[in-house]
Order: sequence, then C-alpha cells, then structure tokens
Amino acid sequence: MRKFLFLIATFLTTSFAFAQAPVATYIHCGNLLDVNINQFSQEKTIVVENDVIKDILDGYATPSGGIKTIDLKDKYVMPGFIDMHVHLEIEMTPKFYEDKFRLNKADIALQATVFCEKTLMAGFTTVRDLGGSGVNVSLRNAINHGFIKGPRVYTSEKSIATTGGHADPTNGVRDELKGDPGPKEGVINGPEDAYKAVRQRYKNGADCIKITSTGGVLSVAKNGQGPQFTLEEIKAIVAAAKDYGFTTAAHAHGAEGMKRAIKGGINSIEHGTLMDDEAMELMIKHGTYLVPTLSAGRFVLDKAKIPGYFPPVIVPKALHIGEQMKLNFGKAYRKGVKIAFGTDTGVSQHGKNAEEFIFMNEYGMPALETIQTATKNAAELLQIYDKVGSIEKGKWADIVAVNSNPKENISTLLDVIFVMKSGQVYKE
Ligand SMILES: [Zn+2]
Repeated sequence: MRKFLFLIATFLTTSFAFAQAPVATYIHCGNLLDVNINQFSQEKTIVVENDVIKDILDGYATPSGGIKTIDLKDKYVMPGFIDMHVHLEIEMTPKFYEDKFRLNKADIALQATVFCEKTLMAGFTTVRDLGGSGVNVSLRNAINHGFIKGPRVYTSEKSIATTGGHADPTNGVRDELKGDPGPKEGVINGPEDAYKAVRQRYKNGADCIKITSTGGVLSVAKNGQGPQFTLEEIKAIVAAAKDYGFTTAAHAHGAEGMKRAIKGGINSIEHGTLMDDEAMELMIKHGTYLVPTLSAGRFVLDKAKIPGYFPPVIVPKALHIGEQMKLNFGKAYRKGVKIAFGTDTGVSQHGKNAEEFIFMNEYGMPALETIQTATKNAAELLQIYDKVGSIEKGKWADIVAVNSNPKENISTLLDVIFVMKSGQVYKE
C-alpha cells in the first residue's frame, strides 16, 4: 500500500513538474504577414509557448539552450488559414448519390479522417463544417483529443431545411423511404419547429447553425433558386441560435431567400449566387458576410459537362449557377460587401481549398485581401478573432508558410510548406 501511494505521489509530482515546464519554440520569419494592414514585415521572431503566441520580437532572437528554433528566414509566414464552408464527411464523385444507400457512419468517418488530414496539410488550421450527418461532431472531438490529424472544427452538425427543401435528407428517394423527417432530423415547418431543430443541434453538440434558405444545386429537385423558409421561420432560428450562443449561416442562391435570411439576422450568406443590388445593399446594412464558394461553382460547372456525372435534374442548375457565382462575387466585392473565405470543399476535392484564393483573385480581389478573407474576416465571422486569424501576442499559435510572396505569385498558396496548429508542428 505504501509503495502504491509512493508511486502515485511520484506520478503526481512528475506530471505536475511536466505541466509546469512550458514547451517553447522560436520561429525565425524572413517575411511575416500582418493581416490588419495587409503587409509583410521583415526579420521577426515568433515566440510560441505551449499553444499560444507569447511574443513577437524584432530581428532573429536566439533562445537559451534547449529551445527549438524553426528557420523560415527565406519564407513567407502567415496566420493559419480558415475555411468557413467545408463538408468533411463527403467528397463528390459520380457515385455520390448511390453511396448514400451503401455507406454506414463508420465508413463515412473513416474516409473523413483522410479529408481532415489533407485539409490541415493544405494550411487550413480552422474550418467551419456546414452540414453532415453528425459524424462531423465526432470528427471535431477526435481531432481535439488528438486521435486524428485535422483542423480545428466548428460544426453545424446537420443543416436545417424545410420539407422537400435542400438538405431534407429524404429528397428524391422512393415513397417507402421518404418518411416525414422533422426537427430532430433537421427539417422544420413553422417557428415552433425552428426552436426545436436548433435545440436539437445544441443537444447533438453543434457549434453553429446552418439553414438552406433556398433550393440547392446538388439536391435531387428541380429548382435551385426559390425561397424555402418564411421570414418568421428564419427569425425563430436566429432567436433560438442566439439563446445558445450560436452564429448562423444560410445557404442561398436566389435573391428572395437571401433577402429573407439577411433581414432575419443570419450572420453569413453562403454562395450568394443570384444576389441583386438590393441584396448586396441589405448585406452591407446588416453587416452580413458573403461566403462565396467559387471553388464549388467551378467544380459543378466542369463536372456538369461530363455526361452522366450528375443526375439529369442537376445538370442545368449546375451550368447556370456555376457561371453566375463568379460574376456576382466581383460585383459584391466592389460594392463593399464583407467577404469571408469559404470553398464548399467536399463538393470540390479536400486539400485543394487554396484554389479559392486564385479564383477570388481572378475575379477581382487583390492577393493579400484574399488572404485577409481567410484569416481576419473568417475569424470575425466565427466571433473568435480574439483567439485566431492573425499572428499576435496571446492568440493560438496557428502559423503557416509558403515559398514565395503571394502578392507576386498567388499560386504559391497551393503549396504550403509549414503548418503549425495550436503550437504543434504538423508539416515542416
Ligand atoms: Zn455546402
């Protein structure tokens, strides 16, 4: 017994001593991006202690013995990127629609572990997962526990839809399988249901709320544009979400559904494909963010041209919406709509999230501003800018680096060569 107590005491003192000694790293940065002013400064040292940035020093500081130094003197160092719209559970293939009838949750989870790792290795240290089966909650937890490698995940769990709407889980199936999904399954009809659906997401472990305020490109239904929620339903969703400290996102292609979402107090419009001037003005007035998902627009446009890739009902929607998305992105940017980076990856391929930087740049946004949308703006939309989104004292140590200056060569962002998340190096 005494020996056992001694062992316990030794264990406690050693683990206490272990916890006491901070793990420090010095990172020598040749070029360090300040996303508040969109400028690189030269020759800085980031001091990381455990999971946070303890200090940023001028010049290349040399630590006293035993502290690790990382040499990024000829690199361009930036905050870890944030993607505000991914689906970690899926990746689109021509078999996507039949897979729904074959894959169990364990299959979905196991393949998603690969998607999570690809995302992190591409420099995306934080993502918002906007809709899945609930496996996305387990993925978040597994990453937080260190069981698998992946970005920090904020998840909406299951998207909330209306009957027959985009994200009604039994759309397009034969009658015996249709059933009548309700708020528990994320399908609502009326404000009362809206409360229950939000509370159910809270119970299931969600971090935010996603609704599908118009039809969608990839659901097996003919209209991708019409509104699918009433203003009252959206107001109820937002009010319930506020009770639980959730931010809200609305998938929207058509202008009417978008305007209802903005007026109802939703924090971000996803896609925003067919925005008109009035929708843009409303977004500016209400401080609503646009999350453009140009990657998804490009992907569905390309694949819709391959015969048989999508079910026939989807093809005309994909062709139309893919084209419109890029036109309206440029317009919204020039008008002054707040923009946060988001790809809808899962529609496009995991690990290629950075292509969005290139599309945004092609359609009119300067390179360093595209990075700002994936750092500062995204963190502000998630309401965690005090913790991530810039390299500043006291924030989580989420740091990435590339070989050349993205201002001169934006495609360098496709090749992230260094990734640190919460002070831990994943790629060097
Ligand atoms: Zn999506």
